[in-house]
Amino acid sequence: MDQQLIDAVIERTRTAVGAEAKVPLHTPDFGALERNMVADCVESSFVSYVGPYTTRFADQLASYTGAAHCIPVVNGTVAISMALIGAGVGAEDEVICPALSFVATANAVRHIGAWPHFIDVSDDVLGLDARALAQQLATVCEKTPDGCRNRETGRMVKAVLPMHCFGLPLDIDAVMAVAADWGLVAVEDAAEALGSWVGDRHCGAIAPLGTLSFNGNKIITTGGGGAVLCQDDAIAARVRHLSTTAKVPHRYLYEHDEVGFNARLPALNAALGVAQMQRLDDFLARKRTLTARYQAAFAGLDGADLMAPRAGTQANNWLVALRIKGNRAERDQLLEALNEAGIGARPVWGLLPDQPMYRGAPAGPLDAARKAEAQVINLPSSAHLVKTLYLLCTNHNHR
Ligand SMILES: *Cc1c(COP(=O)(O)O)cnc(C)c1O
Repeated sequence: MDQQLIDAVIERTRTAVGAEAKVPLHTPDFGALERNMVADCVESSFVSYVGPYTTRFADQLASYTGAAHCIPVVNGTVAISMALIGAGVGAEDEVICPALSFVATANAVRHIGAWPHFIDVSDDVLGLDARALAQQLATVCEKTPDGCRNRETGRMVKAVLPMHCFGLPLDIDAVMAVAADWGLVAVEDAAEALGSWVGDRHCGAIAPLGTLSFNGNKIITTGGGGAVLCQDDAIAARVRHLSTTAKVPHRYLYEHDEVGFNARLPALNAALGVAQMQRLDDFLARKRTLTARYQAAFAGLDGADLMAPRAGTQANNWLVALRIKGNRAERDQLLEALNEAGIGARPVWGLLPDQPMYRGAPAGPLDAARKAEAQVINLPSSAHLVKTLYLLCTNHNHR
């Protein structure tokens, strides 16, 4: 890669993030609110599965996202597995996944004995591409009285698992239209998209089921944690039941009516989450300002473009993404130079079907995903890079 371009990217990133010697990719932001709520939870002695914090956190998430139901669980990977079960996916079924995602998306499918089937992503926001989906289904699948069947593997395709990459909302309506045509349930992996909207609909609460993650690197964190968002009462009840050991409600008897999971989010983690949710609007505002700084700094640069949300959508700016025009070797040259300069830039993930455990999995053509893998990097995006104080607003920006 041209040294002039490398220098320009470093200099412009510095303009956006400031002069601190080492700037990590993304770090959590805790203050007195988090300390007080966690301490209160410890003092209450209800740190585990009973107690008010988990319910309070669930209520905050449901009200923020507009989901009818929210079930907090131990992490985002388990949330996807639980949501897929809720969608009716079982062992030996197939689930359509984007080829470009964090490994958890495909692992969550395998954890319940189902199989991922990889489809290309769109160039603009790196989400599952509806046209590629329609084309692949028409090529390898058939409609049967029992549903969509993959003629090549003989397995039933039950669900489609689109992922809103870096918090950039994908074209979920187009994906859901194709899914409906083939009788597939859509489950949104919105692990990276808390605070992202398609019009006035929150990502993860648009499809019948969706999931969030509160891992340490996400926009809010509970240490580890996740949640299932669900629109249907009966499905939500089943997911809740299964995530809490499938115990039949009773004052003292231990009776369980299926093989359940111990997946409920402990109250100690939820206490952190309740505090973080109260600060979400502030995080979002500061990240919006940071993204605006990046946009100003990178304006007019040839050879590298910041990625931007689709028209009509609002991104949470979780991770700033830069797309270069070069190949993978040039990307690595740039990453080396950025990291050498103390800027914690990272490449996008390696494609899922290239990981050893997913080699040979069913997949469509993956041209756009391969190109993105070679060209897209993330730049430091922590909310605390913007020090300006904002008045805590309780109304969401988009409303
Ligand atoms: C973080 C993440 C997950 C799951 O997260 P964990 O909470 O770490 O299990 C799933 N999918 C995507 C796309 C993610 O980024």
